[in-house]
Amino acid sequence: MMKLAALGTTAGALNAMTKQGEAMAATYEKGTRGQAPLKITDVKVFLTIPQDQNLVVVKIETSEPGLVGYGCASYRRRPHLVAEAITRYIKPFLIGKDPDQIEDLWQTTYNMSYWRNGSILNNALSGMDQALWDIKGKRANMPVYQLLGGKVRFAVDCYAHARGDDLETVEANAKDLMNQGFRHIRIQLGGYGSENLSAEPDFKKHGFGSESDISVDTRVYLEKLPELFAHIRSTCGKKVELLHDIHERINPVDAIHLIKQLEDYDPFFVEDPFPPETHPRYFEMLRDQTSCPIAMGELFNNPTEWVSLISEMKIDFIRCHVSHIGGLSVARKISVLSEMFNVRTAWHGHGVSPVGHAANAHLDLAIPNFGIQEVVQFNDATQEVFPGCPTIENGYMVVNEAPGYGVDFNEKLSAEYPVVEEPLNWPPIRKGDGTAIRP
Ligand code: MG
Repeated sequence: MMKLAALGTTAGALNAMTKQGEAMAATYEKGTRGQAPLKITDVKVFLTIPQDQNLVVVKIETSEPGLVGYGCASYRRRPHLVAEAITRYIKPFLIGKDPDQIEDLWQTTYNMSYWRNGSILNNALSGMDQALWDIKGKRANMPVYQLLGGKVRFAVDCYAHARGDDLETVEANAKDLMNQGFRHIRIQLGGYGSENLSAEPDFKKHGFGSESDISVDTRVYLEKLPELFAHIRSTCGKKVELLHDIHERINPVDAIHLIKQLEDYDPFFVEDPFPPETHPRYFEMLRDQTSCPIAMGELFNNPTEWVSLISEMKIDFIRCHVSHIGGLSVARKISVLSEMFNVRTAWHGHGVSPVGHAANAHLDLAIPNFGIQEVVQFNDATQEVFPGCPTIENGYMVVNEAPGYGVDFNEKLSAEYPVVEEPLNWPPIRKGDGTAIRP
């Protein structure tokens, strides 16, 4: 009492404040502020391919009529397995739960299979997680980026892909993208590993493997890539930001040697120098020898893969596929961790539904350490199946201001684009003698 008096607060005033707080809480519980308690009433999964990649969309329905959320669970090569994981295991767990408790539902769903961090379950988890954020945004009558802290930039700067089997074609495609407004362009010559530039590999001459298997001739790749960078710099100028994806398919020591040569052309980043299983010592060797910015993480699905690379500052861009790591909640945590170590984000964008792209974009809008966003240009069918789908304007991705992600889903129309069974498998990639290598 003495202390309260010293603070200028009487016991009577304190009691009145407590009562006022209790009354406010009771009002909230009764839902008179438009926030009635909610229950999850159904979870549905849709498989569709309106463009060139199989997509998995999760819809969570609630006890409030019309209040639903959408999430991306797109695992292009295993869509049916993800759908099964959701309908058989996650749906029964979620029915009747409170969709407001995103973090608790994430933690309990993550743990309920005991064994975790797999591609199938993480994508399924992402479908749930992203749909819950969409519901929360709609419930708050705010775009999701507002729930994440509000905008720190007006739009999301993106990079697009310029490919070709000769220097001139890559140049023409890069110039076309520059004319569309892109300031960041990924350049690739002759396919990943330059397989289109190589002579017929010996393994095919000897009937080893299959005719459709991909080959990599490291010699050709190492020779041609610096030529490509030199050509694009001399024809497209110094202003455009250039990116490249090694796609992990050469020996680590060759990747280090190559990246040192690319330094002269000032890349924005070079991606995936090593497979995720590579010993971390190679990242130290790379760091010791070059200041070229490194991006990594498209294949990561386990925190042990990204935490040390970020906290030991061995990479400059973290590039996870957001549905593959378990959704927006995980990406948000990774972005916060990365901010502490000056690592920027560059979420993977290939094989992501418009719902997933919108989730990426809402996060990109709200975090200070956003780096760049990989984007695909949505065709007409995709925009019709996903009304409100993000748009690309002058090289920026733009989301609309509707609550949640602002992306709807036309279930009936999506059924007109059933997912394709082939090619679901990544084709084998082989050295000249037939040895299989990892993408
Ligand atoms: Mg990649």
